[in-house]
Amino acid sequence: MSTMYDCYLIGVPYITSVYPNAALALLKGVAEERGYSVKSRCVAWEVARHYNNDTKNLEFCNPVLNNLPYSFDQIRSSGIGNMLYSVAKEAMQSRNIALNCFSYYNTIGCLYILEILKRNNYTGRVLVGGKGIKTLVKFMKEFDGREDAIAHDIFLQYSNVDICYGDGEEYFIDWLEGADERDSITRNAPLDYVSNFDDFDDHTMLPVTGSRGCVRKCTFCDIPGQFEKYRWADGGTVADRMLFYHRKYGTKKFYFTDSLVNGNMRAFTSFLDTIIDYKHKYDIDFRWTGQYITRPIKQMPAEIYEKMSASGAEGLSTGIESGSNAVLKHMKKLFTIEDVHVQLENFRKNNLSYVLLMLPCYYTETEQDFIDTIDFLKHCQSYYADGTIVSVSGGEPLRFDGSGITPMEKMASDDCVVIDHTNPRLWYAGNNPGLDFKERTRRWLYVQKTIQDLMYNDSLNPNMNVIVQNYKEEMVNLYTSGYVKKFEQEAQELLATYNRGGYLNELRNLSVR
Ligand code: SF4
Repeated sequence: MSTMYDCYLIGVPYITSVYPNAALALLKGVAEERGYSVKSRCVAWEVARHYNNDTKNLEFCNPVLNNLPYSFDQIRSSGIGNMLYSVAKEAMQSRNIALNCFSYYNTIGCLYILEILKRNNYTGRVLVGGKGIKTLVKFMKEFDGREDAIAHDIFLQYSNVDICYGDGEEYFIDWLEGADERDSITRNAPLDYVSNFDDFDDHTMLPVTGSRGCVRKCTFCDIPGQFEKYRWADGGTVADRMLFYHRKYGTKKFYFTDSLVNGNMRAFTSFLDTIIDYKHKYDIDFRWTGQYITRPIKQMPAEIYEKMSASGAEGLSTGIESGSNAVLKHMKKLFTIEDVHVQLENFRKNNLSYVLLMLPCYYTETEQDFIDTIDFLKHCQSYYADGTIVSVSGGEPLRFDGSGITPMEKMASDDCVVIDHTNPRLWYAGNNPGLDFKERTRRWLYVQKTIQDLMYNDSLNPNMNVIVQNYKEEMVNLYTSGYVKKFEQEAQELLATYNRGGYLNELRNLSVR
């Protein structure tokens, strides 16, 4: 029998994740602390766990993936549509429903649930929150009559729907208490809440959060634009939370959801000291991982690496992006490739492990920058051989997604980059004309081939062969349709016109469609 809750939280597919949904557990923890009854059900996690294979997860979720032309009825008759339908019907017993729209992958799933609620005359309130609400949704004519629109505009067409743009935990309580503001903003919540994972049946690895935002402003990254400012919890508090979850759920492995674990070195050091102390005092083999930034050598004393190793750090992901100092400088990564070499040695010395993330085809990348990147990947092979590097991800060629959040998107017109807003992969850099679409494809494929030849594991992209194949097909389709050629020609003409007239600034917000 269904129970009526104050709120029913739904984690909407598709998500690939090795740990339970952090947002749902946080909202449940925050609300229950204040006496509300909350049920969380992460369908995305259930599907991902069921298949334990990302390709199969994607296949099953295909009808609700963004930018695919499925109608409501087609989704309804699919396996994922059926599953979401029964969860939505169960959720309708509750006074309020909240949907987790974590990324653009979740927008169609949210839209589909809103449509179910509407067709079944649900009268409660619905909250949709997450980064996905700011993304562009295509092919939603069937739902809304428009070809495409930003997700939050679509969601707000439904009655009784509210949107949460920023940190959810404080707004969520206000919302449950009846606040009727439609738009919530980032509230800079103090990060001292305890999550509740009771509704998840696997606690082998749990997410933990020590900070939000980032201390850097890399030109291609949307993280700083999503948070008002970087903020962090005291390192001892984070370690206490891990101990609490260990005692409650038996968890020893943790995944930091932070954009970077070492944003504040004082908090990071205090976390390391406390967790090392707990490991010894309570004899718990804590392990943790997360994302990590490379810092200039002078900011990283040798003892930090020793402490990281003693604390149970493993498989830290870090964005190196390029083997070229010129590109790193333009990206504002604030480290050099020499810093990376020293760091690799320190990781090796202390038995720490690393996941390297690369970003090929940055818009200033020259042929020499590209060669430097390939040389860097080759240089890393000995670190891969001894386990210091556990994985290398070749990423995807640089995209301009039109969100306007990243510094790079704002710099585009001044840097003579013309963007096609209908396809984030289509852009033309007037200052670096050698890096046209065809050349970007070549370099990206070469990076993928180098990663394969060097036998690096790409654990972030277990279905990399499928991605490479899809991208090749997309490229061929664009070429054979003549679209790329037409776009690049028009971009050149546009740049020539504006260069002549000296009105480069007017290129801002222009695109070729
Ligand atoms: S790429 Fe990483 S270090 Fe750079 S701004 Fe984004 S989160 Fe911060």
